[in-house]
Amino acid sequence: MDHTTRQASSSASSTGMVDVLVPVALDQTYSYRVPRGMVLKAGDVVAVPLGPREVVGVVWAEDAKPDPRLHNRLKDVGEKLDVPPLKGELRALVDWVANYTLSARGMVLRMTLRMGENLGPERTRAGVRLVGQAPRRLTPARRRVIDVLSDGLLHGKADAAREAGVSIGVIDGLVDEGTLAVEALPPAPPPPPPDPQFAQPEFTREQRSAVDAVRALAANGSFHVALLDGVTGSGKTEVYFEAVAETIRRGRQSLILMPEIALTGQFLDRFTQRFGVRPIEWHSELTPRTRQRNWAAIAAGEAPVVVGARSALFMPYANLGLIVVDEEHDQAYKQDDGAHYHARDMAVVRAHIAKIPIILASATPSVETEVNARKGRYQRVLLPARFGGQQMPHIEAIDLRREMPPRGRFISPKLAEEITRAVERREQALLFLNRRGYAPLTLCRACGHRFACTICDAWLVDHRFRQRLVCHHCGFSMPRPEVCPHCAAEQSLVAVGPGVERLQEEAANLFPGARTMVLSSDLITSIETMRSELNEIAEGRVDIIIGTQLVAKGHHFPRLNLVGVVDADLGLSNGDPRAAERTWQLLNQVVGRAGRDQGRGVGYLQTHQPDHPVMKALVACDREAFYATEIELRERTLYPPFGRLASLIVSAGDRASAEGFARRLVAVAPREEEVQVLGPAEAPLAVIKGRYRFRLLLKSLRGFDLSDYLRRWLAGGPKPKGNLKLEVDVDPQSFL
Ligand code: ADP
Ligand code: ZN
Repeated sequence: MDHTTRQASSSASSTGMVDVLVPVALDQTYSYRVPRGMVLKAGDVVAVPLGPREVVGVVWAEDAKPDPRLHNRLKDVGEKLDVPPLKGELRALVDWVANYTLSARGMVLRMTLRMGENLGPERTRAGVRLVGQAPRRLTPARRRVIDVLSDGLLHGKADAAREAGVSIGVIDGLVDEGTLAVEALPPAPPPPPPDPQFAQPEFTREQRSAVDAVRALAANGSFHVALLDGVTGSGKTEVYFEAVAETIRRGRQSLILMPEIALTGQFLDRFTQRFGVRPIEWHSELTPRTRQRNWAAIAAGEAPVVVGARSALFMPYANLGLIVVDEEHDQAYKQDDGAHYHARDMAVVRAHIAKIPIILASATPSVETEVNARKGRYQRVLLPARFGGQQMPHIEAIDLRREMPPRGRFISPKLAEEITRAVERREQALLFLNRRGYAPLTLCRACGHRFACTICDAWLVDHRFRQRLVCHHCGFSMPRPEVCPHCAAEQSLVAVGPGVERLQEEAANLFPGARTMVLSSDLITSIETMRSELNEIAEGRVDIIIGTQLVAKGHHFPRLNLVGVVDADLGLSNGDPRAAERTWQLLNQVVGRAGRDQGRGVGYLQTHQPDHPVMKALVACDREAFYATEIELRERTLYPPFGRLASLIVSAGDRASAEGFARRLVAVAPREEEVQVLGPAEAPLAVIKGRYRFRLLLKSLRGFDLSDYLRRWLAGGPKPKGNLKLEVDVDPQSFL
């Protein structure tokens, strides 16, 4: 890695001109003149004219020396914003990420500047105070207001109305009468900072050494990568909280990255139990006002701990001292639109640039991270067992070739029997199926017509709750018709295959009286409803949970002891080089939901391939067998991390243009020994939203600079014009 941290020099621009990077899809900076009296340094946030608009950008270089012929045409910087400057380490990260992923620097910068500058200043809240005589006309409502305010103190106007049980109009009336006076309420005091001493747990002897290791790493404070490696329920969260506590004591900020922030309600509660207050959150669901406040708090160093989704990595921390990446193996860390970056990898880059420690936590580390730990590049901090002596779940395969469910059903007799028993014992069961909706395919029994999306190469998924057939790639949907649109047969449509909604129907039939709940991302209306549904489960008000991968992550359901995986083979057949790894991780994680509190957890895997190495490793709980096989395979085939990959995706409104462009690209690819260019091949998802897609795959040796190769290639190659689009994906995670 060759990223240099440019320190902001203390002298202001001597040329009277600065280079500014603006948050639009451009790579280059623009020069602007610094108006007299304004002092600008690298990192300062400024408003500058850009074409007809004014945009917020960042001074990237303070002594700009643009082409002298341009001098007369340079525009002035409009204004210097009153926010802390972007530190050298963040600017270096922007440059590094843009360079590595071949994204425009402006696009990467945009992720750092989400401070909501258009919201204007925060509205002050109005308060009222009792100042004058009671009015002549004293209604009961007015009397109640005067009672509430009789202490003579300043009360929030809305609070006073609520307390007195009157409308705001009653308060306004009393203000008009001169009985009450309006004054601005002082801003709400910031919440107290998290307290590292608030409630420290007693650690077991096994946890102790891990705690010592992460505390030492946080106290040392220099760049260092640790893999916190422990089975689900071993106490990884409690352990890395100690590193966070140590970082708080040192007066520096911690960032905890989570793959899916929408699901972290339980996490926020646990954080609060440990540190006394909630952490600051950063993710896409925040309201603009909260976003503005949190951005400001982070930049001012007033947010000691930030919990966020991948975008939180690009926040302008005033003094970041620790990064934790929880569930580091999770695919959700890869962003696949806009800048294609992997937040876990870029977190390591940020830690390196900022010279701070980083902890990667997982029960099922990515093969990349596992290899780094085996080679000693990352320190392995091990938590060998579950906390409190709980045993890991027992895992059994159910061979679907022998123990078939009845026709049109998906739960085998054996699994059904186990669930019945669990419900009788008043325990919970989880049926896991990573498929949203009712059925993945609908066809006409009479003519064989299959319902496909009109603009994607995909079947429409039957969603019964919404009563529509939906495309999962573009969102197109149509009502489920009464008659076949092809042959006009009536009552001829049949659902093929299961989705979670169909499983719920089956469960309701098989287990009458049991309370079922479906958890699936398309059924969630808001984070709050999601969090309350998860609470209902945790409190035991549901007997059978039916869920997609949404339920696999991080939740702690004390009464859940049985997990049934309805289709364990689902992820194995999609041609993804990481298919085995993903299946192993996902199923480990799902089954790991069982038996976390009391009783022995059991996981059943319904599979057609009980002899597949992944199924065998799962059943034998043989982690080493899985990694040894997988690492050996990757090494032999030079797949990551032993080789490197990049994808180019060419798309166009018609097939011939897309394919033609992809072929022309390949024709001019520089021939180099260390890199292979494979393709073009039609993408597995050949059409999305009416766009035809072709893929190229680049494969190189590990030490090869693929980003640089791509840049040289694309600079000399044909440019996508008109309807053509070219996407670059370095270190791809998706191959669809
Ligand atoms: P992981 O993150 O490895 O899945 P957690 O940190 O969530 O594990 O721990 C699992 C459960 O055990 C949690 O409910 C946690 O509060 C509890 N736990 C772990 N270690 C301790 C400890 N030392 N003292 C008390 N409770 C603990
Ligand atoms: Zn579609």
